[in-house]
Amino acid sequence: MNTEQLQVDRIQEKTKALGPGCRAVVWFHGCSRGCPGCIAAEMNRSEEFESCTPQQLADRICALEGIEGITLSGGEPMDQPAGALAEFLRQIRARTGLSVMVYTGYLLDELKPMPGKPEILGMIDILVDGPYRQELDHGELWRGSSNQTIHMLSDRYAVLADGLPMRKGRPVEFDILQSGVLRFTGIPPRDFRKKLEAELNKKQFDIHW
Ligand code: SF4
Repeated sequence: MNTEQLQVDRIQEKTKALGPGCRAVVWFHGCSRGCPGCIAAEMNRSEEFESCTPQQLADRICALEGIEGITLSGGEPMDQPAGALAEFLRQIRARTGLSVMVYTGYLLDELKPMPGKPEILGMIDILVDGPYRQELDHGELWRGSSNQTIHMLSDRYAVLADGLPMRKGRPVEFDILQSGVLRFTGIPPRDFRKKLEAELNKKQFDIHW
């Protein structure tokens, strides 16, 4: 059993904003890449994250109902310990029929020679790769910017591949938590935060990112 820890910022149990169908999303904590304009920058710097073993994370995902897959984002999933990430995905594959989609700032060709990464890549159905580039952010479906590529690493969603790079429109879902916190899921449009802040300021809301 792998006892290395995975660092998790947040789990969303259901969303239709990040990938095909209804999915759970795991946002991992931390990213070494530092893309200008990164919307997860505060989350990556925050000290509020949870450490869990691959087994613990897999147990939480396996208990969810009504989802067809999981999406791993961050932060940078590929900066997590490779052995722990692989063990988590092995358990998901062995215990469920869930599909796996992963966002990474690395390029697929950069990942292939890295230790432990080929096994991880072999358990992923959809990989969205490449750094976020603000100036190429034109509202591409499932991507932050047009330099990123959606790789179908398995046949599971091959039927969706046709025309996918040309598709625009990115859903963003909002939740209001019991604590009153407004939370969004999805890849927001460029300048989303600035515009949201301006609108909320007009209505005299306090904003804490
Ligand atoms: S790879 Fe993703 S999380 Fe990391 S800095 Fe770039 S946009 Fe942000």
